[in-house]
Amino acid sequence: MSAPDRTDPRPLTGEPLALDLLNTRWVRDAVTLDLLDGTDGLAVWLDAHGLGDRFRADAATLRHTLDARDALLGAVEGGSGGGAEAVDAVLAHGRIRATLTADGPGERPEFDDPSWGPAWLAARDYLRLLQTAPDRIRACAHEACTLHFFDTSRNGTRRWCSMASCGNRAKASRHYARTKDA
Ligand SMILES: [Zn+2]
Repeated sequence: MSAPDRTDPRPLTGEPLALDLLNTRWVRDAVTLDLLDGTDGLAVWLDAHGLGDRFRADAATLRHTLDARDALLGAVEGGSGGGAEAVDAVLAHGRIRATLTADGPGERPEFDDPSWGPAWLAARDYLRLLQTAPDRIRACAHEACTLHFFDTSRNGTRRWCSMASCGNRAKASRHYARTKDA
């Protein structure tokens, strides 16, 4: 058996956990690719978020993480109110324990079943984004792109997952449309 490929193959990384979970699926040359098509990919994703030591990349964790991905996609695409129930069902698998530590007040997530941990953390992160700036949760404006991002630009005008790929593709097709009309 060859060693699994541990590098993250995705075109967009570094978004907040909830949106980064959505970005485990992307389109290349009209084919949808999925990092979470197995536990090897789940291990890559957990490591990318520093969760590899806390949670096991096993079949149960994969199943629950995919549940969370479906729930979050429904919520993001459904707009306000849409998909809330499914996200809430994921959140029911964990709770926050308030703590006081030497460094001050804190919160610690607790799970009866740790295989729900990454799913719960992603759903919880979505709540945080909703509290911070719900209008900054965006899908890439390119119609063939499925990636999502949290717009942290000063003016809130980010439209593309990446200017280098989707931004340029859109510019090129606008140019094509202009030259065709002329
Ligand atoms: Zn894009």
